Amino acid sequence: MGGGGLDLAAMKKLIALVALALMSQPAFAEDAPKWSLAIHGGAGTLDPAQMTPEKRAAYEADLQAALDAGAKILAGGGDAMDAVKAAIIIMEDSPLFNAGKGAVFTWDGTNELDASIMDGRDRSAGAVAGVKTVKNPILLADTVRTQSEHVFLVGKGAEEFAVSKGFAVMPPEYFATPARREALERLKAEKLSALDVDHKFGTVGAVALDTKGNLAAGTSTGGMTGKRWGRVGDAPLIGAGTYADNRACAVSATGWGEYFIRVGVAHEICARLRAFEEFRALEVEGGEVPAEVLAKAPQQIADSVMADVAQLGGDGGVIVVTPEGQAIFSFNTTGMYRGRATSTGVNEVAIFGGEEKVSATPDH
Ligand code: ASP
Repeated sequence: MGGGGLDLAAMKKLIALVALALMSQPAFAEDAPKWSLAIHGGAGTLDPAQMTPEKRAAYEADLQAALDAGAKILAGGGDAMDAVKAAIIIMEDSPLFNAGKGAVFTWDGTNELDASIMDGRDRSAGAVAGVKTVKNPILLADTVRTQSEHVFLVGKGAEEFAVSKGFAVMPPEYFATPARREALERLKAEKLSALDVDHKFGTVGAVALDTKGNLAAGTSTGGMTGKRWGRVGDAPLIGAGTYADNRACAVSATGWGEYFIRVGVAHEICARLRAFEEFRALEVEGGEVPAEVLAKAPQQIADSVMADVAQLGGDGGVIVVTPEGQAIFSFNTTGMYRGRATSTGVNEVAIFGGEEKVSATPDH
């Protein structure tokens, strides 16, 4: 090539540089949601025949209220942490879900609440377990995060901390509902397991991406009916039931807690996503990873971790939000009470598998 033209080697270098620049752009730069929110109200072996229109309407109304509360904050430019708390408080206050009011009963006939929350900005986290007097355990978990030097407080100590920070002491009757009491009585009388009487896990959770690019995750639960000996599940365990890291994703889980603890579900999903990103960075020189493949990675990773849970014998589900704004569900049960909303107009709640009307994956 003569004159001022580029020779072949320079041309190749230029193409490689352009490819590199394109690859380092966010995968969904054009239509990626600016904010994104997913919520759950528990997964389980739900039977469509048992779901009367009235029951469905009641669940959908409370899920929608929780989704709207979080979405309003995110749409107004608010923080992912605030959106997560707002959505969870509504579900804790609803007697329909196994968190706050309406929590399941322990073997001893009490309601013992667990919750955790994590900020993806700095991975600061707070958690409480075995709390009996706090109306909104998610707020206590956040206060542990912001006003103590600890991450995890349990039982009486957590309650003393709550009082010292001005939390009202609620009487046991506030949390107790007849349906949950009846489930405990049936479990004892018929020697059933928690899964037999409840058919579903009613834990609640929320994950969010805000317009500043920050991720947050929170989970709140009463645990499993008939739990005893101070049993604690995955919900308040950072890394098992809850995890958020701006570099990877935000996750909240619901399901048979023992299995989620063993797999370290929430952290496992985030860790695999980070590993995928690292691998992608290595791949840049070798060739392009098609956008469709990139877009599918978070769903595939979440499904694969849930398959791992199933392989051990556990069941349940997760909600995941990614830095690109994907709002993902993955569950190995027949249903999961859930909802998602994004700045691109997705806004829906669903109960059984495959009910989503729109994909919250930006390339679809
Ligand atoms: N994961 C919770 C636990 O094991 C139960 C649930 O999801 O409802 O305590």
